[in-house]
Amino acid sequence: MSHHHHLHHHFPDTRPLTISRLISGGLITTYSCSSSCLHCLYRCHPGRERQHIDTETTSANLKTIDSLGCDSIHIGGGEPFLDFASLLQVLELCQQHHIQVEYIETNASWFNSTEQVIPKLRELLPRGVSTLLISISPFHNEHIRFSKTKGLIQACRRAGLNVFPWISGFIDDMEPFDENETHSLKEFRQRFGPGYDRDILRRYWISPGGRALEWLRNVLPLKSLNTILDEFSHPCHELAETSHFHIDLYGNYVPGLCSGLAIHRKDLGSPLDPKKYPLITLLYHQGIQGLYALAKESFDFHPRDDYIHKCELCDHIRTVLAARTDEYDQELAPKAFYQKPG
Ligand code: SF4
Ligand code: SF4
Repeated sequence: MSHHHHLHHHFPDTRPLTISRLISGGLITTYSCSSSCLHCLYRCHPGRERQHIDTETTSANLKTIDSLGCDSIHIGGGEPFLDFASLLQVLELCQQHHIQVEYIETNASWFNSTEQVIPKLRELLPRGVSTLLISISPFHNEHIRFSKTKGLIQACRRAGLNVFPWISGFIDDMEPFDENETHSLKEFRQRFGPGYDRDILRRYWISPGGRALEWLRNVLPLKSLNTILDEFSHPCHELAETSHFHIDLYGNYVPGLCSGLAIHRKDLGSPLDPKKYPLITLLYHQGIQGLYALAKESFDFHPRDDYIHKCELCDHIRTVLAARTDEYDQELAPKAFYQKPG
């Protein structure tokens, strides 16, 4: 082992966060959604800004993605099919930039009839799309009738598109219910038992961020603030993770899966300026302990008694900061993420 290697493990890493290579990810074309799933990482819902990605932003995002070594992406949201014309434009730009589209994510809410959706699906094929990821979960079923999900799956088969059901493990759960109605999680609990929610955690990946935090509080153990700070004493190197990256309609890159944090596209590829990104820099070097210390000392932050995860404390602090000051607007974006309804 070299002397340098040895030193590296004994001193904190003070190098700035640099996103120099993108492995795998997608475009968030809108935060507007016809659903408002309890587990939504991006806090999408029908009341969010009805904006969809424009051509300039799409092109610039794709150029950045390409320049950082990634040549295929997925398209998601929000619900990308809410603006079909914009979606087709995005696909055409992907073709122009030689970026392959692995799949488009959809919640199937826009399905009305096989006859009406097949022509739309047929427009996707010549634009290089061969697969739709169709969401299937009890969270979605609270807002979207399963008959729509099934209808869209069948229409895809007829139109010659592949379906990537996410996840097929939930299909059986829908069986006992009327597919022409939506069903609340309470109904699932009544049918499958009170442990239903907790079981979901073992069946389905749920990221501890956004609206999911509120649902996760019902199923994960609550821990005292000090336990959380002790348990999560590491720097947040998740911020450097690029294996499931997203860039949104505002040209913002979401570091890791840390929804509500933003690095502008043009700041990728070189060391992040700590003056422009003080919170992300702090989290990257000192983790949640660093963010908590800042919030307490500079903003008189009052924590709750308990949290389920460091990311819940992080979200709580960021929500308070976003409301209190415009100092961090560059990295606490989009604003609407922090304006929680209800
Ligand atoms: S999880 Fe997907 S379908 Fe559900 S609210 Fe979020 S973006 Fe919409
Ligand atoms: S604590 Fe914050 S920065 Fe760290 S991983 Fe969680 S959301 Fe990301």
